[in-house]
Amino acid sequence: MVGGWREKLARVGGHGQASVVSKCPCCGYRTGCVTCPVCFWTDPAQADPGAFVAVGGPNGELTLTEARLNYALYGASHPKYREVVRKPRADEQY
Ligand SMILES: [Zn+2]
Repeated sequence: MVGGWREKLARVGGHGQASVVSKCPCCGYRTGCVTCPVCFWTDPAQADPGAFVAVGGPNGELTLTEARLNYALYGASHPKYREVVRKPRADEQY
């Protein structure tokens, strides 16, 4: 019996959801926040319900597709957030 290190390794390298910081679906940086500080997109459920569907809630009528376009144009998921967003940190890069 070698011990449980193989099991442990499998957990670390496998479905390590808890240890992997989730990427923002809008700007793609690994901010791991519900509301992304880089683009100010608010992830309704940390899931993509369909990029073409406006889900309402914190993002209002803004779709993820529009938010991505806004981020490309303005550096924020909506032009009104340009003043509150910040640049991504080095450890949040892809
Ligand atoms: Zn973002």
